[in-house]
Amino acid sequence: MARAIRQNLSAGKVVSGGSTISMQVIRLSRKGKSRTYLEKLYEVILATRLELRYSKAEILALYASHAPFGGNVVGLEAACWRYFNRDVHELSWGEAALLAVLPNSPALIHPGKNRDQLLLKRNALLDKLQQAGVIDEFTCSLAKEENIPDQPSALPRYARHMLQRIVRDGGAQTRVRSTLSVGVQRRVEQIVQDHHKQLAGSQIYNAAALVLDVETGEVIAYVGNTDVEETGYHGEEVDIINAPRSTGSILKPFLYAAMLDEGKLLRNTLVPDVPTVIDGFSPKNFKREFNGAVPASQALIRSLNVPAVHMLRDYRYEKFHTMLKRLGMTSLNHPPDHYGLSLILGGAEGKLWDVTGMYASMARVLNRYFKRTGDQRYLASDFHTPTYTKKNVASDESNIKPDQSSLLSASAIYQTLDVLKEVYRPGEETGWRNFYSAKKIAWKTGTSFGHRDGWAVGVTPQYAVGVWVGNADGEGRPGLTGTETAAPIMFDIFSMLPGSAWFQEPYLEMQQIAVCSKSGLRVGEYCEATDTTWVTPKGLDARACTTHKRVHLTPDLKYRVHAGCAPLGDMVSVNWFVLPPLQEHYYKPRNVSYRTLPPYRADCGDQGGLVVMELVYPKPNARIFIPRDLDGAPGSAVFELAHRSALATVHWHLDGEYLGNTTKNHRFALNPGEGSHTLTLVDDAGVLLESQFEVFSK
Ligand SMILES: [Zn+2]
Repeated sequence: MARAIRQNLSAGKVVSGGSTISMQVIRLSRKGKSRTYLEKLYEVILATRLELRYSKAEILALYASHAPFGGNVVGLEAACWRYFNRDVHELSWGEAALLAVLPNSPALIHPGKNRDQLLLKRNALLDKLQQAGVIDEFTCSLAKEENIPDQPSALPRYARHMLQRIVRDGGAQTRVRSTLSVGVQRRVEQIVQDHHKQLAGSQIYNAAALVLDVETGEVIAYVGNTDVEETGYHGEEVDIINAPRSTGSILKPFLYAAMLDEGKLLRNTLVPDVPTVIDGFSPKNFKREFNGAVPASQALIRSLNVPAVHMLRDYRYEKFHTMLKRLGMTSLNHPPDHYGLSLILGGAEGKLWDVTGMYASMARVLNRYFKRTGDQRYLASDFHTPTYTKKNVASDESNIKPDQSSLLSASAIYQTLDVLKEVYRPGEETGWRNFYSAKKIAWKTGTSFGHRDGWAVGVTPQYAVGVWVGNADGEGRPGLTGTETAAPIMFDIFSMLPGSAWFQEPYLEMQQIAVCSKSGLRVGEYCEATDTTWVTPKGLDARACTTHKRVHLTPDLKYRVHAGCAPLGDMVSVNWFVLPPLQEHYYKPRNVSYRTLPPYRADCGDQGGLVVMELVYPKPNARIFIPRDLDGAPGSAVFELAHRSALATVHWHLDGEYLGNTTKNHRFALNPGEGSHTLTLVDDAGVLLESQFEVFSK
């Protein structure tokens, strides 16, 4: 201090600060105070207190984070990013030396003649470091070759939505050490942005991706939205990862797993896929066609909606609602009745954060099953939400006792993920598409009603990746499907992540049983061909196949008979795979091996011969004229059918395409267009009526 005062007095102005690092820290904290001797004295007192209270290392850290580095750059870390665009740990000796000398004369960094002076200062420090033996001569001379950076560039904006979220969660003005991996984050941002450039051409402007570590649930990459690429505003600042969006089919695997767990379903149990009306709700498949009946595993990977609704009706939507909440879905704000069966078709909104977390939890429970021993291999807390801050999970769990059972068992989860690893998807959503992947990934896509949201979520034993694509404002686009838009992003992200082995099979918890190869049910009395399959413990109680029946036929196999109309010696008994009539109608054309049961012999009594359905208009093979509407648009005609049963539901198809159904009054307004047409009507008992007609113009 004495030296500084003497020099300043003789020079007539302030030329020497006489400050130690501690004094400078105090000065930085008292910005704007005039540099008088009184103030200086006060600062000395404060600095002494600082010295007494903090270690040298702490004081240096305080200094480094508040020191000026030229312009509006404050703090060592900000300086690293703005001058060198990298983290403080990645600095070279030359860069470190520059940042060390800069706070003493921050103005030198500005372009101009001062820069030579700054270079000299830096090199002097490097020389000192070499003399002190910290660096060798070679390092020193290399460091001196480095240029001095130009104007500071803007701070990088990596993980900006993650930052938003931290602030929203109350983390503003604090230092948060996130679980993000900088490398993965940057690459995922790049992947999303690359796809965004293409998608923007189809007026799809937003996308989000979340990468989780399965074991910990920690966030590795968090891309909440796209970066602004084109002119116009498309809600790029919205953090989609945390926004509730319609879930499409993305929740179907949880229903499949829950039903396997309860033995309500085995892996390939046939599920109905026929025109269905439940409480006025009439689900449609993405491709508006029906398969009659499909194995549940196929229904899952082809994402068929009608079988899913049948499955949910069987499981009960109230129970599924509870299950989803317990699995971690936080956006189910309404009671179960509000959603009803639409719960499985995207009737509920979900956040990418929750959904990806739920997939990760499934994988975690399965992984950890093998890490525990005995018959207590589950921990309720293995199902948990993702986290972006480091948590000491081990200590949290040390006082929780493992359970014998789980929300979803390891065997149900294994089978579900095993079905979902299928790469070939004869996609119900967009047509066949083959995603090549060298790694095994269990994945599922989803598309919301009106093509507003495309989802893809995948898991491996190590990672869970969730991707959402759409428009933040909810605008739908043709071609916006999970398979077409989100799945390619998800596969790109997986191909960049390290691979891992596939899940282990929890054999200890599974049993092998014989199943009917056609119905996928437990082998029944009359099943012909059988397969073996692994089932969950409750799968042992799954119902046996009753689709195979014992039928009695005439020796030429042309007619059915029964004991009342044919002597025993005159009949042969065979096993026959008999689907309910309506299922049969749609199943048969797709399964060439399916054989319809022969009719009863005339003398064996049957309602055969009675006309159940009859077309009132148009009569078979009629030529009809449909006038145009007043505005010139093609008009429509009301077709009408009479049905013997007052309770019947009739399904209408025009030229093979499903139109809808009628009950009670079987009238349907149709606009078939000019030419020949085929009208196909099927009632819920499977009775079929096919009729041709022709529409002519004047
Ligand atoms: Zn069978």
